[in-house]
Parts: sequence; structure tokens; C-alpha cells
Amino acid sequence: MNTTRASRTSERPKPLSAEIEARMKRQARRDTKPEMALRRELHALGLRYRVDRSPLPGMRTRADIVFGPAKVAVFVDGCFWHSCPQHRTLPKNNQAWWRAKLDANTERDDRVNRQLREAGWLPIHVWEHEDITRAAKRIAREVGDRRAIGLQEQSSS
Ligand SMILES: [Zn+2]
Repeated sequence: MNTTRASRTSERPKPLSAEIEARMKRQARRDTKPEMALRRELHALGLRYRVDRSPLPGMRTRADIVFGPAKVAVFVDGCFWHSCPQHRTLPKNNQAWWRAKLDANTERDDRVNRQLREAGWLPIHVWEHEDITRAAKRIAREVGDRRAIGLQEQSSS
């Protein structure tokens, strides 16, 4: 789960509501349920991948699922941390701090997407609320397409 590790820093303000605290704990946990479910689906579709890797050398952000030969990087994004349009919320306490933090996450996502595209990669973001089966099919299609293109380029050179 792409929960952005910076969120675990000690600068986190208090007090937090119990609800927010619980949500943060849930979301910070690694190998979260949607990510595991997605990996299972992809595996069942015959795809092989690496997990929790930086797609590019020197890139600090890790993708949750990486298809190296096809150059596809998948991020499973938590609705809270990545401000999903359907489920975004702002905690009642310390609103300015939270807004800055969540905006910074969105800006980082944009920056990482740009860097990946510039390097010939395709970033795919899956919201944690998305239908996992559909998301897996979408990923499999993209990976298949890009492999086919790669093979064509190889055979024509
Ligand atoms: Zn959502």
C-alpha cells in the first residue's frame, strides 16, 4: 500500500480522534488487504511481478507492484492519504497541517508519475476502494500491450 512513509514522522500533531488514529494505523500497515488481493488476482491471471520496488534507479518512492520488462509500475493508493475524489476527508483537528500534508502527497504522486513517464514507464494507480478484479484486468491488458510493443520493436531491429 502506497501510504507514503513520511507520514510516520514524529511531527504528527496531537490530539487525534480515535477514529483517525485507527484509520492511520490501518493504512500504514504493510501488505494491506487491497494490495494483497490485487497481487493474488494478477498472479491468477498468469502475471509475474516484483513487489515494493523503486522502478527507477535513484527514485525513493517505491511502487507496490512492478512489471520490469513491460515498464509498468502499480501503486495501490489509500483513499485518505492520496485524497481519493470520492472518499477524501480532512481531520477536524489541525486542519491546516493535514491539508499541507495531503497536498504534499498529491504533489509527490504527480511528480513520481511524471518521472516514470519521462523514463518510458507507465504508472497505474489503483484506489483502495476499486473493484480488484477489474483493476487486475486493466493492469493485465496494459502489461500485455506493452510486452507486445516491446517484442515488435525487438524483432524489427
Ligand atoms: Zn476512495
